[in-house]
Amino acid sequence: MSTFEYTWPYEKMMDDIYINECPFCKSGNVLTNMKQEDLELAKEGIKRLLVMPCCREKLVILKADDDYFWTEEKLRER
Ligand SMILES: [Zn+2]
Repeated sequence: MSTFEYTWPYEKMMDDIYINECPFCKSGNVLTNMKQEDLELAKEGIKRLLVMPCCREKLVILKADDDYFWTEEKLRER
């Protein structure tokens, strides 16, 4: 499951979590509504749902590390 196709990079700036490119609509530098607490929970392997503010598509995050989200869907082969 933890293969490259299921990951998506994110960036943390202060307390804000950005996604460089939306996997759904390709918007750039998207500021998410994800909170620091959500990120910490994701890092503990607790599933989080992220609704992309750009296109309202839902990203199911199964876990996170310092650079990547591990997602339920295969995002890179679309
Ligand atoms: Zn989007």
